[in-house]
Amino acid sequence: MRCLARAREHMRMRPINLIVTHCSASPNGDTLFRGKAGDVGFQTPVQIIDEWHAKRGFQRSSAARVRYNPSLRAIGYHYVIYRNGAISTGRDVTEIGAHVTGYNQKSLGVCLVGTDRYTPAQWASLADLVGALRKRYPESRVTGHRDLSPDQNANGIVEKFEWLKTCPGFDVAAWIEGGMNPVAESTEVPQ
Ligand SMILES: [Zn+2]
Repeated sequence: MRCLARAREHMRMRPINLIVTHCSASPNGDTLFRGKAGDVGFQTPVQIIDEWHAKRGFQRSSAARVRYNPSLRAIGYHYVIYRNGAISTGRDVTEIGAHVTGYNQKSLGVCLVGTDRYTPAQWASLADLVGALRKRYPESRVTGHRDLSPDQNANGIVEKFEWLKTCPGFDVAAWIEGGMNPVAESTEVPQ
């Protein structure tokens, strides 16, 4: 019960109405693991992304770090989906992310490792995660980073010529409407 009360308290602190899908913009096929597990210098994708975001000047608060993933000092996303399908966490859901200009306050950021080709395992994990988040935050809309670019001609649709970035490289709305199945032209089967 205490746990439920805490979750409610968090929703008051930071209501979530948007789930934003991103890509890491690293080469398709690169797992973003560096070195071998157990060896000195071994790094996981969240650690790599954390370094990138630190270099860009992102910073988590020390209070947030004490509560959640203390070793990550900067990462702007809440979840990262590895090429093997593993889902790793970055910021806590109660923490404001740093992943999309103008929409961080009430959103969660989910990042797929890659640029525009994802593995079947990533598609499965994305569907599981987004499914779970939509249950937890029923008010939330699911979208792609590129769809939050400014609507320059104010016709109510963010069109391709208006995209500031192509992230995450596929049409998230169509993916949702299609039942969250892998998008064929954005799928890469690992060798
Ligand atoms: Zn993005």
